[in-house]
Amino acid sequence: MKKCPKCKGPLGERPALSRRKGIGDICSDCGYKEAMEDAQKIIDMYSKESK
Ligand SMILES: [Zn+2]
Repeated sequence: MKKCPKCKGPLGERPALSRRKGIGDICSDCGYKEAMEDAQKIIDMYSKESK
C-alpha cells in the first residue's frame, strides 16, 4: 500500500494529485485540504485588491 507523503496515511483507492511541485499522489483528504488552501489564497488576493 502506498502512503500519502503529507500525512503518512494510506493513499486509499482514489488518490489525488498534489498541486504542490514534487509531491505527487496524496490522499483525498490532503487533496481536499490543498484545494481549500488554494481557495483561501485566491480569496485573500481578491480581498486585498478590493480596498
Ligand atoms: Zn494525506
